[in-house]
Amino acid sequence: MLLKDQVAIITGGAGVNGLGFATARLMAAQGAKVAILDLERADPVAAAAQLGAGHIGLVADVTDKASCEAAAAAVLKAFGRIDTLVNNAGITQPVKTLEITGADYDRILDVSLRGTLYMSQAVLPTMRSQQSGSIVCISSVSAQRGGGILGGPHYSAAKAGVLGLARAMAREFGPENIRINCITPGLIGTDIIKGKLTEEKKAEIAETIPLARLGRADDIAGACVFLASPLSTYCTGITLDVNGGMLIH
Ligand code: NAD
Repeated sequence: MLLKDQVAIITGGAGVNGLGFATARLMAAQGAKVAILDLERADPVAAAAQLGAGHIGLVADVTDKASCEAAAAAVLKAFGRIDTLVNNAGITQPVKTLEITGADYDRILDVSLRGTLYMSQAVLPTMRSQQSGSIVCISSVSAQRGGGILGGPHYSAAKAGVLGLARAMAREFGPENIRINCITPGLIGTDIIKGKLTEEKKAEIAETIPLARLGRADDIAGACVFLASPLSTYCTGITLDVNGGMLIH
């Protein structure tokens, strides 16, 4: 098992069709003790129970620093260490530049970008004391190609911000054996795209992808396990494209 006895936190992991839950499931199968963090309405406790015994679900809002700190402290109390953080929580909004309000901008950037900073800040002191850790940040192909599928320009900006933040943290914490990497998923069939794309539109998009299909949540989960595991001990500051070849650059 790749993650035997490791402790992993996954934000936004309660949606059973989402990337976060698929990652939680695969990490648990690889021997990790998993903490699923999510908003109360997403019911992280019920999601964690689906993983089996020995995992926990915690209500946490990544836009709230105190909430992130409380969740990290609860994980430490339950499991005694924190090896991996997956910054997965994110929301999108399909609008054009001229339609973005200040409130939209705040909402979208707060979850992906501020949330990535706050949760990372909450676990880094523990990783520092362990002199080991891996943080995986879920960005998006939208950051690289300039959106154009689902999210508005503020979503692209938030996800591009995640790339910059993760790279800078990777540089800062590398000497302490804490690795920080990003994954840029292509279009993955989860609840985030539900009702936003017709079946015809999805088929049209699949035709433009070299691997000829949309991604599955498990495609991203595999990449997260790789970046959390000893298979990637010399990777930090990288951006791992998991997009079926949608963007080859
Ligand atoms: P999803 O909607 O199933 O998952 C997002 C989760 O984040 C939900 O469980 C939601 O409750 C949670 N969340 C929202 N606000 C939160 C907050 N303030 N605090 C804590 N949790 C919060 O969607 P998904 O497709 O699984 O998305 C997961 C991540 O992957 C997101 O960051 C998304 O932007 C990114 N992504 C998705 C795709 C895709 O095509 N599905 C592509 C690229 C990137």
